[in-house]
Amino acid sequence: TEKISKIYQMGEVQVAAIKDVDLQLYEGEFVVILGPSGSGKSTLLNVIGGMDLPTEGKVFMQGEDITDYNDKKLTAYRREKIGFVFQFYNLMNNLTAKENVELATEICKEALNIDEVLEAVGLGDRKEHFPAQMSGGEQQRVAIARAVAKNPALLLCDEPTGALDFETGIKTLSLLKKINQDFNKTVVIITHNVPIGEMADRVIKMRSGEIIEETINTNPIDPEGIEW
Ligand code: ATP
Ligand code: MG
Repeated sequence: TEKISKIYQMGEVQVAAIKDVDLQLYEGEFVVILGPSGSGKSTLLNVIGGMDLPTEGKVFMQGEDITDYNDKKLTAYRREKIGFVFQFYNLMNNLTAKENVELATEICKEALNIDEVLEAVGLGDRKEHFPAQMSGGEQQRVAIARAVAKNPALLLCDEPTGALDFETGIKTLSLLKKINQDFNKTVVIITHNVPIGEMADRVIKMRSGEIIEETINTNPIDPEGIEW
């Protein structure tokens, strides 16, 4: 991104959710964003993902400025280039795990083999389960499979462990790291689970809409084999 800002007009008052943020993401990177509530983390992620347009600045993906896109191109960008994972899994309750992934990948040109992705997230034996028949951690893994199977250029995760207990959260973050490595996906995660910072290639700290600190890990920790 180049000097992106997002300013909200609240009646008479202007609120800058992010201010002149310059951020470059490199292919294959595993990046963690930390920062207090209201510091602009979600806004930054949403602007990168084409969910929100910045009021100032440009967002480039593979050389193209997405802030110049019309609605149709922006929709295609979100659908094909970006995989989103949210705190609440947003699964379709009337569809099985596999059908949830199928629905998301139907119109994606580059989609991966769904069975392979479900195996990779440890859900090989849960494909025919409905969300109500799965634990929170399992549902989040369906959501991760759904995002990964589209084979996006960028996987954006906004507090993916916010609704999970600590241990399941750490396992889920380890899984995202494994996906980063095994599928060579660029992953950006907003999280409060601080231990994940040790697995990241880069940790970005935000405060009041700005990036105040960046730490590069030359030797990020690899997750152990994950036992679900
Ligand atoms: P949290 O950790 O609580 O999720 P965050 O770092 O993700 O916080 P943002 O959601 O990006 O923070 O919000 C940044 C700022 O922008 C906050 O002050 C917030 O109130 C404001 N903001 C976000 N969305 C809107 C909106 N739609 N309208 C007005 N102000 C907004
Ligand atoms: Mg947020």
